[in-house]
Amino acid sequence: MWEFLNLLPIIVWTGWSFVVGACVGSLLNVCVARIPLEKSLLWPLGSRCGICYQSIRWYDNLPLLSYVILRGRCRRCGAGFSPRYLLVEFATALVFAGLFYAEAMLNVRDSHFVRDNTWAIRGGMIPASLWVVVLHRWLLASFLIVAAACDIQSREIPLSVTVTGTIVGLVFSAFVGWPWPEPASRIPGGATEWWLLLPPNTIPTGTQLWPYWGPALDGIPHDSVRCGLATSILGLLCGTWLLRGVRFLATRGLGREALGLGDADLMMMVGAFLGWQGVFAGFFAGAVAALVLAVVSVLIFRDDSLPFGPGLALGSLGVTLCWPTLSPGLAILLFHPTLLFGIFGVGGVMMFGLCWVMGRIRGPVDEPESP
Ligand SMILES: [Zn+2]
Repeated sequence: MWEFLNLLPIIVWTGWSFVVGACVGSLLNVCVARIPLEKSLLWPLGSRCGICYQSIRWYDNLPLLSYVILRGRCRRCGAGFSPRYLLVEFATALVFAGLFYAEAMLNVRDSHFVRDNTWAIRGGMIPASLWVVVLHRWLLASFLIVAAACDIQSREIPLSVTVTGTIVGLVFSAFVGWPWPEPASRIPGGATEWWLLLPPNTIPTGTQLWPYWGPALDGIPHDSVRCGLATSILGLLCGTWLLRGVRFLATRGLGREALGLGDADLMMMVGAFLGWQGVFAGFFAGAVAALVLAVVSVLIFRDDSLPFGPGLALGSLGVTLCWPTLSPGLAILLFHPTLLFGIFGVGGVMMFGLCWVMGRIRGPVDEPESP
């Protein structure tokens, strides 16, 4: 009982995050329904039934509740709404609540800032800086959910979603230069080869996972606006070019179209939020997630055409939660120029080889017809 009362403030805040997530999910549904059709997001302002065109009253438009109460049907004409509405609202609510709980209660970033404020947080007094970190994750998650839902629904990730997300990530990043909200005193200094000399997990994870490079270059000091922007710009460039490179090699290897340009735009957005190391880890985690999703999709829905976007979204979000676990291994690779180029070279050759073999086994299909 005491245990429950102790946790009550956190449970209330997590529940609040769930409700916020459900409401945001309701807005995201509007984006998913309208953006691929190039309809205005602002007009008509209210939702309408797609069959009888009657506007839906506010009490029939409550996130999650109304769908369940009306069993997914229009009150007037009885037409069924897509289960996507319920799924997107529920997923957003779960993700918002989960991200808040992970940051505030589980301290997944292994943050000293959170550790120093443990008692305030458990008492329900969430520091403003922690809300900023949570807001950063919520924004990224919202853009990823819209992109993934559009990709599943119409096999396309709209450029307007990813470009807006990239700009939001870029602007946000200016204010959260690594290692914020960690204290600047935690920045490892001195040694040029800090990745080799530091014990594991001594590079702190800020709102941006890691800085653009370490040690800081002259004129772009860590914990500054310029550091935030440099990390973000390098991240968005890495996101778009890594995926374009992979697409080029895979398409040449397979002898047919592999990956979409939308996937490159999606990782550009992830890079703007998290920095280039997040793109790198997110891509590999995303490939694994996409494979798992593809297997599930074939086994349960008998659908073998699941796109890559949802996997990338899941992988990128997962990386923000697992960073302190991944980072001791990644620090050796990602702060070492020679190893870094080695990975890109060997990885590229291996992937081309794999795709080439797969292309020979399956044979080139979908040959483009000459006009
Ligand atoms: Zn209707």
